[in-house]
Amino acid sequence: MSNPVFYAAAGESPHREKRSRGLCRHCGVKPVNRPRRLCWGCYYTPEIKALYKPLGTHAGRRDIGRGEHPRPLPADPCPHQPGTAGKIAELIRRAEAGEGLWHPGDAVFTPPPEPAA
Ligand SMILES: [Zn+2]
Repeated sequence: MSNPVFYAAAGESPHREKRSRGLCRHCGVKPVNRPRRLCWGCYYTPEIKALYKPLGTHAGRRDIGRGEHPRPLPADPCPHQPGTAGKIAELIRRAEAGEGLWHPGDAVFTPPPEPAA
């Protein structure tokens, strides 16, 4: 939490929170100093690490519809080339419709023809 009002209300300094990320989610004894809010010993014990999924902004959601919750294939391929306004509009439409973003029949980039010399 980066809201200073929050810390004022809780009687804490925002600076204190930055240094400590709390105690390990597994053992609850050692301070967190590895990803997944685990301590060193727990993080490097494969059986324990496997119990805790990655956390954070990018963890497990590199792309809409990929990973654990795949989305259905879009009904129709997109005729617009990548990077065009039409393609972006279609991606927005697919995302809002809960469809996967990519269709195997989507248009691919084709370079414009060389101007006649
Ligand atoms: Zn631990």
